[in-house]
Amino acid sequence: MITVMKFGGTSVGSAEALKRVANIIAQKEGEKVVVVSAMSGITNFLVNVAENPQLNLDTVVDQFAEKHLMTAAQLFEGDTYEEFRTEFDSRLEKFKKAVSADRNDPYYVDALTSQGERFSSLMLAYVLRDMGEKSVAITSEDAGIYAVGAPTSGSADLLITASGMTMKVKPLLAMGVIPIVTGFYGINSEGRPLTFGRGGSDYSAAVVANAIDADMLEIWTDVDGFMSADPRIIPDAIKIDEMNFGEAAELAYFGAKVLHPRTIEPVRLKHIPLKVKNSFKPDEPGTLIHHLRKSKNALLKSVAAKTDLSIITISSAEIAYRPAMVARIIDKIAEINVIIYSISTSLSTVAFLVHNNDVKLTLRQLNGLSGGDIERIDVKNNVALICAVGDNLLDKCGVSGDIFSAVKDAEANVEMISEGASDVSLNFVVPMSKVVDVVRTLHEKYIGEAE
Ligand code: ASP
Ligand code: MG
Repeated sequence: MITVMKFGGTSVGSAEALKRVANIIAQKEGEKVVVVSAMSGITNFLVNVAENPQLNLDTVVDQFAEKHLMTAAQLFEGDTYEEFRTEFDSRLEKFKKAVSADRNDPYYVDALTSQGERFSSLMLAYVLRDMGEKSVAITSEDAGIYAVGAPTSGSADLLITASGMTMKVKPLLAMGVIPIVTGFYGINSEGRPLTFGRGGSDYSAAVVANAIDADMLEIWTDVDGFMSADPRIIPDAIKIDEMNFGEAAELAYFGAKVLHPRTIEPVRLKHIPLKVKNSFKPDEPGTLIHHLRKSKNALLKSVAAKTDLSIITISSAEIAYRPAMVARIIDKIAEINVIIYSISTSLSTVAFLVHNNDVKLTLRQLNGLSGGDIERIDVKNNVALICAVGDNLLDKCGVSGDIFSAVKDAEANVEMISEGASDVSLNFVVPMSKVVDVVRTLHEKYIGEAE
């Protein structure tokens, strides 16, 4: 039985948290591989350094070292501290190189922002060793995690990573060693660090689970699991005990900030079950996510909302008969990396859902479209996307009618509708002012007696 256990920034954010986590790891039966984030606040600190070339680099190095050494001083003494310091200092030399490298290097940001995980993993390995466990800190380079893609938005190459990790990590497990692997990045074909985007350590852990054919992936975080709604809106929201990969993927993408949405795919591919657990309450069962489907009586399992969005509507005669035009519009938006949350078209309009903050940039980009094809662009700010998730939702007859009757009860006007790509979610847009009412009404009517 191999378990991959991932701990986030708050779970490794202090001496106390590191000890708590080390206990959780030590108590786990069987073989285990651990993946960690940087200590909380560290990646933000590094991003800030990357964005501000005027900062004094000696001060930056001192601040970075101090944050880790203060914690280490609370954890280690005597020989353990000395040994730790030797490895720490050699990693700090590499940190200095990364921070003072050429900022025009396309991988400068990746090399710098991926530094935090190298230090949190080292500390956790030493805490475990201090407890009498066999443990080593191992970087993504040494673990054989390979990445492809553009700087700061890499993806793992699952096949090459599988062979890399089989050679480099599996033998450690056979010797009873617990490897503590750096999350957040892999190395590309040139051997350069490539990060997986902010919050990417969850994804790293899923990649590791896939690569070593784990039996279970545990994502340890600071919440109890997925909830039936945001507890700030619905105080009696319930924790979801179990759901399938599709439901979790939609929820993670559209609202619930429990898990990075990219975490699902690498484990879903190999049917590896995933558990979300709270490292501050290790005895709580958390949420189990797996490929099985269970029919429940309740229509919905969860309702999430993605707020602060805008609808950009482009009008032009007979857009529907000019398919190349929709393609050109999408290409233009893709050039600036703006995420489109939903699209709908009619004879003479095409409407996109984007984040409020991306509207200006998108409009500027669309103005660059040539040929006077666009007759008008309208923007409706401050809308929200409601994501109603339930097992087999769209196979059930009359579901849309039920859901929209609840929306009517909340006196909200639906602006746009889209089904989730899987058959587990129905997504629609309402004004921000109605979000709370809609979520509450749906929750009252269709969730509750579910579990
Ligand atoms: N440390 C990285 C970040 O803050 C990755 C992660 O925590 O998941 O984005
Ligand atoms: Mg995280």
